[in-house]
Amino acid sequence: LLAAAQDFDFFYFVQQWPASYCDTKRSCCYPKSGKPEADFGIHGLWPNYNGGSYPSNCDPDSPFHPSTIANLTSEMGRKWPSLTCPSSDGLSFWEHEWEKHGTCSESVLTQYQYFQTALNLKQKANLLQILQDAGIKPNGGFYTTEAISEAIREGLGYAPGIQCNVDKGGNRQLYQIFLCVDTSGTDFIDCPVMSKSARCDGLIEFPPFSSGLGPDHQEE
Ligand code: 5GP
Ligand code: 5GP
Ligand code: 5GP
Repeated sequence: LLAAAQDFDFFYFVQQWPASYCDTKRSCCYPKSGKPEADFGIHGLWPNYNGGSYPSNCDPDSPFHPSTIANLTSEMGRKWPSLTCPSSDGLSFWEHEWEKHGTCSESVLTQYQYFQTALNLKQKANLLQILQDAGIKPNGGFYTTEAISEAIREGLGYAPGIQCNVDKGGNRQLYQIFLCVDTSGTDFIDCPVMSKSARCDGLIEFPPFSSGLGPDHQEE
């Protein structure tokens, strides 16, 4: 291969707040295994360039092989649930993430290591605990993005990027948190550049995901 050994500069490790995915106009569907726990879930581990652009769909010859990651899938079901409709077991979400992003890190991580690395990073960055320890709770209250960022910078040692979305009522809310990770997938780093997707500013809601009630359009 003529490709350079290192064909990206760092990863974004992106976690999503399930309540904020579900309370939008598009709604959501819980996984076949049931409602996920009230915690941030993994969205993806995304190779990126220092300039802000990123590679995608790097290797059509490297399809997703669920059998390769069989001993990770039960943990992935809990830590990396898919909330799109219709309800799923997550495999199509993980396939999408592997094909779009994972294949661009193959110089560093095998398919097994890619998913294992994301699970390890989730373990290392317990964002909900960090936020709650700082008094930032998913209770429908409003918090500044500065307070959220500062709590994570204090608790983890690295400042995050914050992505907002909008709920059915038009409120801006905490949707995703971006952290940066070195090319080996081992350590968090200061972000070389922040994604355009994660530049939310101002006062935002941190909505609850605790009630037993399902999303409004579960069957949609
Ligand atoms: P992206 O391309 O944005 O990394 O991934 C988003 C894609 O994964 C979309 O096609 C979306 O439909 C699918 N997907 C499946 N489950 C989820 C989920 O729980 N959250 C998000 N954000 N996307 C999901
Ligand atoms: P994906 O199908 O790329 O490429 O989805 C496009 C956008 O719509 C992404 O931001 C994705 O997260 C969102 N999306 C896709 N399906 C659903 C869904 O079932 N519910 C919600 N709330 N968002 C979705
Ligand atoms: P959105 O436009 O909803 O923010 O992002 C849609 C999808 O584009 C994401 O799910 C992800 O797959 C990809 N994406 C968005 N921003 C970035 C970025 O800064 N870096 C990388 N590597 N992918 C991104």
